[in-house]
Amino acid sequence: MPRPIKALIDLAALRHNYVRSKQTAPQSKSWAVVKANAYGHGLDAAVHALESVADGFALLELDGAVHLRESGVQQPILLLEGVFEPTDLHWAQAASLACVVHCEEQVSLLCAADAPVPGMLWIKLNTGMNRLGLRPERLPSVLEKLRALPSQPQLGLMTHFSDADGPSGVAEQLQVFNAAKAEVHWQGPISLANSAALLRFPESQGDWIRPGIMLYGGSPFGTAQSAQSLDLQAVMTLQANIVGVQNLQAGEHVGYGNTFTANVPMRVGIVACGYADGYPRHAPTGTPVAVHTSRGVVHTRTLGRVSMDMLCIDLTNIADAGMGSTVELWGAHNSADAVAEAAGTVSYELFCALTPRVPQVEV
Ligand SMILES: *Cc1c(COP(=O)(O)O)cnc(C)c1O
Repeated sequence: MPRPIKALIDLAALRHNYVRSKQTAPQSKSWAVVKANAYGHGLDAAVHALESVADGFALLELDGAVHLRESGVQQPILLLEGVFEPTDLHWAQAASLACVVHCEEQVSLLCAADAPVPGMLWIKLNTGMNRLGLRPERLPSVLEKLRALPSQPQLGLMTHFSDADGPSGVAEQLQVFNAAKAEVHWQGPISLANSAALLRFPESQGDWIRPGIMLYGGSPFGTAQSAQSLDLQAVMTLQANIVGVQNLQAGEHVGYGNTFTANVPMRVGIVACGYADGYPRHAPTGTPVAVHTSRGVVHTRTLGRVSMDMLCIDLTNIADAGMGSTVELWGAHNSADAVAEAAGTVSYELFCALTPRVPQVEV
């Protein structure tokens, strides 16, 4: 018997969310961002689900990108961080991968004699995030070098926003980007927006959007603007069963460290999910969880510390749940954003942290 835990992956919800991202930017093409194993959802499953609708795919793992091409993906595939070493260029060119160029070292690699140059390069500008990207003042000289390449690759211009979901928004970075663009009389395609920018700032859409988290049904704004209110559907539902029930007397504790003490008699369900499955150990008592009962789904809370293979939930007053009941850790009835907020993180991290021992089941 396998341990009773699984992650249901709703591929129709993934397609719905992709279509939703396209409706937000009807004039733009879209790279479905599938880095980090499609944010933990399974690269093959996600790409297969989107293959008939997506304009392109973006990720930063070269092996994953080559694998997609070899498995027959026809659309453009973008390497979001470009190449890391010279030999990567051979793979990128052979698999017709588009490459980001974010630093002078990558420009040098491309300009080396006999370097295999991919057919499309996206020059990434650092417009204020100060993570990856060339400073705008470097653009004219980089353009000159790349335009001189004998293979004449197509060129695009992109940037990434640091606070599209926060108080700063995108205005300042957009201004820096537009100034750099004007300076070189840029005519080619541009790409700017992640999910948050796309949903909040129509002026930042550009020719190619780059939605990630919204495809998986996470809100880029957390609980401040729920996924449901954005018409996004949960793709991953992590569920596990109750494998033990304890009846506590007032004054008794639950779990490691005795961090939770019952002050009245309580009924506690022990769920077959712990941090070795990717559930955040930091989730405190009170983190939202949902349990399936004969009355439908009932919302309750976690109790005490999350351990490696188990966590505890409050079943007091939920008499129709017990041994064997299905518990939803996050998903369609219990938003990953709310769980993430309770645990001091974001839905991105919950999804990506799901560990390989949890079987994924496409639905
Ligand atoms: C991950 C990533 C995205 C997608 O961001 P979301 O916030 O998940 O929509 C877009 N662009 C780049 C460069 C990224 O690395």
